[in-house]
Amino acid sequence: MDHPYSFDIEEYMSKERFKRFKEFSGDKETPCLIVDLAIIREKYEELRKNLPFAKVFYAVKANPLDEVVTQLQDLGSSFDVATRFELDQLLRLDISPDRMSYGNTIKKERDIAYFYDKGIRLFVSDSEADVEKLARAAPGSRVFFRILTEGLGADWPLSRKFGSHPELTRRLIVKAKELGLEPHGISFHVGSQQRDIGQWSTALTTVGSIFRWAREQAGIQLKMINMGGGFPASYIDPTNDIQEYAEEIYRYITSNLGGETPEIIIEPGRSMAGDSGIIVTEIVNIAKKSKHDLNQWVFLDIGKFGGLIETLDEAIKYPIYFQGGGEAVDAIIAGPTCDSMDIMYEKHTYKMPSDAKIGDRVYFLTCGAYTQSYSSIYFNGFPPLAAYVIK
Ligand SMILES: *Cc1c(COP(=O)(O)O)cnc(C)c1O
Repeated sequence: MDHPYSFDIEEYMSKERFKRFKEFSGDKETPCLIVDLAIIREKYEELRKNLPFAKVFYAVKANPLDEVVTQLQDLGSSFDVATRFELDQLLRLDISPDRMSYGNTIKKERDIAYFYDKGIRLFVSDSEADVEKLARAAPGSRVFFRILTEGLGADWPLSRKFGSHPELTRRLIVKAKELGLEPHGISFHVGSQQRDIGQWSTALTTVGSIFRWAREQAGIQLKMINMGGGFPASYIDPTNDIQEYAEEIYRYITSNLGGETPEIIIEPGRSMAGDSGIIVTEIVNIAKKSKHDLNQWVFLDIGKFGGLIETLDEAIKYPIYFQGGGEAVDAIIAGPTCDSMDIMYEKHTYKMPSDAKIGDRVYFLTCGAYTQSYSSIYFNGFPPLAAYVIK
């Protein structure tokens, strides 16, 4: 008997779809990730429908499986590429360089030269030294400048490390132009799994002021806004629908950019791939630490090092589906490695069925993004997370 303890499966997907995942994974060894390409397609189309004014540059790092990238290529997506290695992969998949941007602010000059040599002409920057590298290694290219955001309201913030204050951004724009580059636009990332739509308002207000300053004070017409990622996938903590995001964001753009109609880019990663994947894992052990321990420990064959690193500080709370019946028991959920930080959930109380047993399969939903690409290669000898694709 199946019994969803922490949630109702239909809040996340139809029963038929879940059944398809389970059947497909039936003969596979655990742990493994199963990705359904049909869901990626639906997510892409949903995003395009709701944000028809935005061009999609899929953030490859979220899920770099060849099949995922190829599917998105076929749908017409462009790609936000972070390293030379991702670039090589995309070239191998016959993706045209004019559908790529080098979106990492942290790059070696020789890697910039490599991208330029392969035909990429769209780059991000957020510092003086990097603008100088770009001028030398990618002469004449279009550059967009990333502004600093706070990451408030995001479950997985991408703040502090990336972007510059508006005052420095203005100087970089001028410097880039002086060095023969083409100042093209402004980018930001409000933080991944951003549940506060208002964060786009804050960022777009700053973008609007930089556009105005560039036009009026520096004689530079910026042409593009890159709004990064941050759109949600379906975890336990609720979010607004993508329609809500789209409507609000469109309003922020029109109110901050006045009459200007810049090109709009988005770089979804999590919202594109997250819902498409399920991780199938097995209960290795169930134990208590003392006779009267109120909590039960459940050890699975996947943990922080096997691909679930976003459980750090319990930041991302995956819906976890146990099989079995009986009472609902509080569970501490931990991984299989010999590292005591390999505990996934202790503060947030997940419930499991009292008659769940060792050897049962457990399903983590919404695991299509930031799982396999994060899994370690040999810690304790565990191999990287295996992945299979439902075509
Ligand atoms: C990781 C990343 C993204 C994707 O963000 P999500 O929140 O996963 O959609 C987009 N742009 C850049 C520059 C990134 O580093």
